[in-house]
Amino acid sequence: MSGNLYGILRARFPAARATCVIETPDGRRYSYAELEQTSARYAQVLQRHGIGPGERVIVQVEKSPENVFLYLACLRAGAILVPLNTAYKASEIAYFLADAEPKVAVAAPASTLAAVSGGPETLTLDAEGGGTLVEQAAACDADQQVAEAADDDIAALLYTSGTTGRPKGAMMSHRNLATNALTLHRMWGFRPGDVLLHALPIFHTHGLFVAINCVLANGTGMLFLPRFDADEVIRLLPRATVMMGVPTFYVRLLAAAGFDAALCRNMRLFISGSAPLLKETFEAFEARTGQAILERYGMTETGMNTTNPLDGERLAGSVGPPLDDVEVRVCDAEGKLLPSGEIGGLEVRGPNVFSGYWRQPDKTREEFRDDGFFRTGDLSVIDEQGYVAIVGRSKDMIISGGFNVYPKEVEALIDRIEGVAETAVVGVPHPDFGEGVLAVVTRAPGKGETPSAESIIETLKQDLAGYKVPKAVLFVDALPRNVMGKVEKNRLREQYGAQFADGR
Ligand code: AMP
Repeated sequence: MSGNLYGILRARFPAARATCVIETPDGRRYSYAELEQTSARYAQVLQRHGIGPGERVIVQVEKSPENVFLYLACLRAGAILVPLNTAYKASEIAYFLADAEPKVAVAAPASTLAAVSGGPETLTLDAEGGGTLVEQAAACDADQQVAEAADDDIAALLYTSGTTGRPKGAMMSHRNLATNALTLHRMWGFRPGDVLLHALPIFHTHGLFVAINCVLANGTGMLFLPRFDADEVIRLLPRATVMMGVPTFYVRLLAAAGFDAALCRNMRLFISGSAPLLKETFEAFEARTGQAILERYGMTETGMNTTNPLDGERLAGSVGPPLDDVEVRVCDAEGKLLPSGEIGGLEVRGPNVFSGYWRQPDKTREEFRDDGFFRTGDLSVIDEQGYVAIVGRSKDMIISGGFNVYPKEVEALIDRIEGVAETAVVGVPHPDFGEGVLAVVTRAPGKGETPSAESIIETLKQDLAGYKVPKAVLFVDALPRNVMGKVEKNRLREQYGAQFADGR
């Protein structure tokens, strides 16, 4: 397979172009024919503003069907899409503009990007599908061809959510995206009649590429929610067959009144990723609905790397074996291969792995081994069956008194304690030990008596080496999370940075 991703997907669209591809909760429906025509018109607008192959189009808009057409228009024009999180503020936007040097910006009227002066030429697009992009498209015809694209031509620049340092632009080629889409489409058994419930944001690889490209490759439709809302999901679930979500979606569904097996009667697959799915959530979901959530693992730079099987055992706490066309291995810091069962850095190689960081050749070289494996920065372990488990981020690893502590191991033990909902374990400065282990815990309401910090520490002492046992346990109402559901450990490290300042 090679060429422009749009052309590759279009070759798989349904012959019956009247098939609905996007339906919104307020009843707007768009067919594949409309998707073709509108994306062609948008591509012409971009070209009229000087966008040619390789030019960047930076986008900060709300999720909408038109936003999907804009993504496809960029592909058709051979442009590089730079989607931005709608939450980014002025200083972050200034950095992206300077780094990506886009020729055109597409901004929601109230977005930070729209307020930038002296930047690139700006078109607008609002959540209801209005704005100058749409107005100008009305004057274009719909016969726009698809630009040629070599396999390595870049289709998108995705800034990594980067919990430390400045975000880096991951260059995703047409081939990276196309191979990953078709591999996932096959391995997750997409078939005629599938309807995807889409509640993820579309400035991130999960909602944008994994979800949308699987649907387009399948030639079927999606129920397209502007954002996750448990009540809306519950209302629409009976009409869906597949849902992709972050773990928080599943936690919230389980907490919602009226979420039960009957609602899921047409569902054949619940997929989770982007952050670790707790074993408790996996088990509670299976008990409630009879469905084992399929957990997969990926990242901005690589798209998806591993998945639990469609047919076969889906293991809680595991992200499954590698995709058919992806290789994985676990190595130590020097790159020495570790035997199965040992914790080390996860490295991946395959057609899904990105072409490098935008204008950062040194950073790119640092992250790749000579034989082409990419160092993900995730600590993991591979079992005898080839299933991968993510143990933590290497930068989250705590070194206390010279000993390595993997937060995930400690978190899993605390999460098992009656009365605990969730835990984040971080390392914060400690005058004696370099870093001290700190646990931040949320309580599970109505799940028995709430444990005290002392009782948690006593329980852990029975199972953990002393250096791994938190020196303090703090209770909070909720852990800070970003929009993809990832716990923001950097914020916890900042907030509780002085916790051990007195050396205790
Ligand atoms: P992003 O680039 O924002 O998609 O973040 C990628 C990171 O999310 C990975 O490097 C992992 O640390 C984490 N991640 C993604 N999927 C999973 C998963 N299923 N379990 C645990 N961590 C995950």
